[in-house]
Amino acid sequence: MLDDELIRKAARKFAVKNALDYGKAVPENVMNKLFAEFASKEIGSDRIRKMVGTVVAEVNSLTKEELEEESAHYVYPEKAERTGLPKLSWVTESIKVNTRFAPNPSGFLHIGHAKVAILCDEYAKMYNGSFFVRFEDTDPKTKPPIPEAYKAIIDDLNWLGCSISGIFRQSERMELYYKYAKRLILDGHAYVCTCDSEIMRRNRAEGRACACRSNSTAVNTELWEKMLSSYKEGEAVLRLKTDMSHPNPSVRDWIMMRVIEAEHPITKGRYRAWPLYNFASAIDDHEMGINLVIRGIEHEVNGVKQAYLYSAIGEAQPHTIEVGVLKVKGMLAHKSDIIKAIKSGELSGWDDPRTPTIAGFRNNGIPPKAIRNYVVSSGTGKNPSYLDMAKLSALGRKLG
Ligand SMILES: [Zn+2]
Repeated sequence: MLDDELIRKAARKFAVKNALDYGKAVPENVMNKLFAEFASKEIGSDRIRKMVGTVVAEVNSLTKEELEEESAHYVYPEKAERTGLPKLSWVTESIKVNTRFAPNPSGFLHIGHAKVAILCDEYAKMYNGSFFVRFEDTDPKTKPPIPEAYKAIIDDLNWLGCSISGIFRQSERMELYYKYAKRLILDGHAYVCTCDSEIMRRNRAEGRACACRSNSTAVNTELWEKMLSSYKEGEAVLRLKTDMSHPNPSVRDWIMMRVIEAEHPITKGRYRAWPLYNFASAIDDHEMGINLVIRGIEHEVNGVKQAYLYSAIGEAQPHTIEVGVLKVKGMLAHKSDIIKAIKSGELSGWDDPRTPTIAGFRNNGIPPKAIRNYVVSSGTGKNPSYLDMAKLSALGRKLG
């Protein structure tokens, strides 16, 4: 059996630190510390819980000066400062920060992606959470997935030193999106719109709701079934009821699902109704327990759109950091331009050292540590930054 006096002393020590760090000690936080320190199931017993409750109450009655005075007598294990990234103000001691990097496997990773991936990985490590990779591959028509890209992206992330806790493909999570779509229809938050796209575009621009918006859930369920089985591309979409008078027309009843008749390299012809970015992304973030989303500043409006979805399903929206783009001076920045240059023979491939892809950097002899250091030092601000290859090479030589 554990020595109660020893546990009481440890609880007091952790409670004092907890109160100093967050203004008030919380029994659960102290319990977590005790579990880590004593590695025994007995810590969870009613006897110990009761004791911790008493200790926390005692500590919370102390003044700040008394807490400081007492803490000077304790030795706390130092938490290694991982990075130079700014601390997250909303993170308390019991919160683990889970992040995700969500690339589209229709191309290879470039430095702009690497920035987001590294920041996500750093924060997950800094706060003992998980870093997930989620392939956003639900647009087989305009962004057809490249089968080799799935593996190449993981290889790049591993090379960059990211610790991947799990890999997901959205094309394999379709039943989940269907389940939520159905639920949102039944709860009256979503409706199938069969209007002509030109009419709908005008309606949205003018803030006018179409007749479909007031259809019953029974009608919507029936039309939704048709989206899954027989509607052709462009004949129907599933919309989320947001606010038709929102100042930004793109937020008004945005599209959650649409029909795409194109074969997908993984799921082949199994699905016709495909989720759009904001729907799939928000559902997955919620389902995967992501509490920090890091994305490019250009996605700012997506947070506004997703807020309506989170409120419809009654869940909290994750914290978000929108970061400025990272480009390389003198190199192509857009995927479409890189594809064009490869097609014309101007570049030899995705790994050409003249492309700002991770594979290109690798072939340039840039060590991954130099990229990580650069990204961390450039921080999480909203301003764009421009990477100088000469500087990065110099940084690399210093590390090497
Ligand atoms: Zn309509």
